[in-house]
Amino acid sequence: MNNHPLIVDIKRHSLEDGPGIRSVVFFKGCPLNCIFCHNPEAQDTGVELAFSEIDCIRCGMCREVCSQGAIDYMLYEHINRNKCDACGMCVKVCPGKGLRLVGSYYQVEALAEILLRDRSFYNHSGGGVTLSGGECTMYPDYLESLLKILKANNIHIAIETSGYFEYDTFRQKILPHVDLIYYDIKIADTEAHVRITGKSNQKILDNFRRLVKEEGTKIIPRTPLIPDITATYNNLSAIIMFLKDAGADNISLLPYNPMGFDMYLNLGRQKPPLPERFIRAEEEKEIYEMFKGRVKSEE
Ligand code: SF4
Ligand code: SF4
Repeated sequence: MNNHPLIVDIKRHSLEDGPGIRSVVFFKGCPLNCIFCHNPEAQDTGVELAFSEIDCIRCGMCREVCSQGAIDYMLYEHINRNKCDACGMCVKVCPGKGLRLVGSYYQVEALAEILLRDRSFYNHSGGGVTLSGGECTMYPDYLESLLKILKANNIHIAIETSGYFEYDTFRQKILPHVDLIYYDIKIADTEAHVRITGKSNQKILDNFRRLVKEEGTKIIPRTPLIPDITATYNNLSAIIMFLKDAGADNISLLPYNPMGFDMYLNLGRQKPPLPERFIRAEEEKEIYEMFKGRVKSEE
């Protein structure tokens, strides 16, 4: 099991991803491959080179230092990914923000020390630390060590998960140290789930059923409202039925933002085929009506 996760970003002073002021750690690597992922840089477990067309000033420095001959201005994406070994030489000489390596390793103690720097903000706001991704539960040994340090310092812990984890390992190493779990229930139908995320949802649904029976940890199931994909009558009705059957009575519905998918291009990938619109006000109203009186909507 990989005990050396890479981290995409540490967002400090966040007012999202849980109560109060939080530090959010985005782990790199995810077992799913959702077409609507807003964090594509957190899907792959390895270090990646990101090129930003808009930030490049065409100085040519990167091409001069690249020993692999991987910089090719004839390519729209600038980098020949078949040649690049992510050595990072080009990033060091880039005078602007045209290039950046995504993914850094932190020793557990070093990461804990960074997160504990904001302890007074957490204490005064009822906040804490949120572990996100990617899929942070891919690294149970690392998380267990990190969470033990944070809990010894009385830090409130939230995690964001796709639910795609080995239950017994999760229960033993991660669950005892967690106060709040945001748990994604994206698509109820198994075939559609495979098509949209690359994996079956059986493990996710089974894990959720087991988790709601555990004592002491608050769980908030979450569903992103992607027009015509997840935000359909059939899918949301099936999710409501599943939640009620599993014994859950709450949900957080996440609004969809059709912007912000440029990172796919920066990483040399195709932009996914997604609706290019926000959810309409009347659609949103209808959705909240569906949930009203059956499953409580939470922030
Ligand atoms: S990361 Fe290294 S191999 Fe890749 S383009 Fe930059 S200098 Fe070349
Ligand atoms: S070094 Fe940076 S700014 Fe210069 S050409 Fe390369 S990516 Fe663009």
